[in-house]
Amino acid sequence: MGQLSRFWREAEHRYRLLGTKCENCGRIYFPPREVCPTCHRESIGKMKDVELSGDGTIESYTIVHDVPPRFSRQRPYVLALIKMDEGPTITGQIVDSEFNEIDFGKRVHAVFRKMGEDGESGVIVYGYKFVLQ
Ligand SMILES: [Zn+2]
Repeated sequence: MGQLSRFWREAEHRYRLLGTKCENCGRIYFPPREVCPTCHRESIGKMKDVELSGDGTIESYTIVHDVPPRFSRQRPYVLALIKMDEGPTITGQIVDSEFNEIDFGKRVHAVFRKMGEDGESGVIVYGYKFVLQ
């Protein structure tokens, strides 16, 4: 499989928030895993794709002031740990919100946004971010 098709396969996973579910123990993982870290061999052949709803709750967050140069137009920003309704915890940026609106326990939803631009190749990178519900 070429590098480009691999890129699109991974992009599809990101765009649809596809995770995997272990049908042995029922745990859901994001990003997808090929083997369940809890069940190991028991999970082989039992990992199924599952699409996350994108809904979750803020577990913790931090305001990031130190931003790499290629993201400099976005600074500062809020990085949060989101407990997804399906179980996995995802780190993501919270956008379109005032800092004082963001708090532990607030409900958020995943959206897809431009993450940045690779200056050398000109490739625009997209990924998920979160907005308050
Ligand atoms: Zn398992």
